[in-house]
Amino acid sequence: MSAVIARDSRTPWSTVTRPPARWWRDASAAFAWAVVLFVVALWVSGGGLTDFGALGDGLTNVGRLAGLLASALILLQVLLLARIPIVEQAWGQDELARVHRLVGFTSFTLILTHIGLVMVGYSVGTGVGVVGTFLDEVLHSPGMLLALAGALALVMVVVTSVKMARRRLRYESWHLLHLYAYLGAGLALPHQLWSGADFRASTASTVFWWGLYGAALASVLIFRVAVPLARSLRHRLVVSEVVAESPTVTSVVLTGRNLHRLPVRAGQFFQWRFLDGAGWSRANPYSLSAAPDGHSLRLTVEGVGDSSERLGGLRPGTRVLVEGPYGRLHAGVRTREKSVLIGAGIGITPLRALLEELPPGPDATVLIYRVGSRDDLVLSEELVSLAASRGARVTAVVGHRQLSGDSWLPVEASHVDDAEALRRIVPDIAERDVYVCGAPAWMDAVIAAARSAGVPEEAIHHERFSY
Ligand SMILES: Cc1cc2nc3c(=O)[nH]c(=O)nc-3n(C[C@H](O)[C@H](O)[C@H](O)COP(=O)(O)OP(=O)(O)OC[C@H]3O[C@@H](n4cnc5c(N)ncnc54)[C@H](O)[C@@H]3O)c2cc1C
Repeated sequence: MSAVIARDSRTPWSTVTRPPARWWRDASAAFAWAVVLFVVALWVSGGGLTDFGALGDGLTNVGRLAGLLASALILLQVLLLARIPIVEQAWGQDELARVHRLVGFTSFTLILTHIGLVMVGYSVGTGVGVVGTFLDEVLHSPGMLLALAGALALVMVVVTSVKMARRRLRYESWHLLHLYAYLGAGLALPHQLWSGADFRASTASTVFWWGLYGAALASVLIFRVAVPLARSLRHRLVVSEVVAESPTVTSVVLTGRNLHRLPVRAGQFFQWRFLDGAGWSRANPYSLSAAPDGHSLRLTVEGVGDSSERLGGLRPGTRVLVEGPYGRLHAGVRTREKSVLIGAGIGITPLRALLEELPPGPDATVLIYRVGSRDDLVLSEELVSLAASRGARVTAVVGHRQLSGDSWLPVEASHVDDAEALRRIVPDIAERDVYVCGAPAWMDAVIAAARSAGVPEEAIHHERFSY
């Protein structure tokens, strides 16, 4: 078991990542709605409401609106996922992933509607039918072949994201296919430029569309490429120690230059690339398992597949590239004096780091650690000793999960109500912030129980260990 990394005074770097005010979240949502409304306004000003004379015109007209909205939503998606710090901190990864899924499926439906309505509309009265019209458009209209390729790329992204297909794919394969969404968005541009009259209908329209495409491209290049590269070069992280915590769990300690300037807080995570040959091409998210002390970072990883299992064999001196820090599971989002940290399995890692950073005091923090068996407890010695030094209380809830899968409690406690169990362990839970981390289904059960126990929505903070 590795030694406790304890820190008694709050260090200046722990205040670097401040969560943006709540209104940033509302402001970014308002921006997205404003974009959608502006697209509708452009369509209306281009004759959208009056172009309903003949059946074909009417269908094409509505199809045009669907296409414009689909383009805007896809570009908003790119902005949403560009990891713009203020957006990422305002929403949090879990919420962004949920919105991404919703907007993704909506824009996909709009693309299909666009293609369907425009083709049927064009075909009315031509005598060549919908298929003939479709082929004619693809083969003879400028940019249309590229747009079709783009649409097919997006179809592939959506199909591989449907739950059943997603389960059958390795994460890396799914992620690689998902990147084709950028290609899909890019390939739609030529047909908007060449044949999409809406793109060039007015100066406002041209400025708007170029602005949106430009902002999406710039934010990806800046926040997903330039900033991570600059940060990695600046801090030059290297593996300094590899510690076996259990037969399946490994801690990796990293050192680097000027780590006191890295704007990271306990509870956050990075995407890590270990440059030891095969590792450079794969970025995996791991949370810090100790509060950053300005000199080193530590992550603790359970081996569940190729990348995570490989970490046990890392050699000291291995260079590491990082993207991040990301995540809202840090002390800066607190709304109350006291907290409860509830983690399951390897989900304990960010909570272990948070325990080190949250204000000390008698019973100020309660940590509930849910595991299947005592052998699954990791970092337990340091948790106990850290809790003692900070006046915190640690409760392990041990036992196999219930078959129904909708309770956070073990089968031995199936007679106890989920919320009641929380209240028994932490009677004043309704007056505390609740931080939750673990497997998605288990987290859903804990969050539901916390709500039933009276914890308000804004005091519940969570990070899922899978997207
Ligand atoms: C925000 C966050 C923080 C995490 N922190 C920790 C941690 O501190 N300790 C820890 O042990 N685990 C953590 N995980 C889980 C860890 O990222 C995965 O277990 C690991 O990436 C698995 O990769 P693999 O190649 O070993 O296994 P695989 O067999 O390739 O994957 C197993 C499962 O892990 C998930 N996964 C794989 N690769 C990625 C990826 N690049 N991005 C997101 N999910 C992926 C997928 O759900 C996949 O089905 C975290 C995950 C997230 C999303």
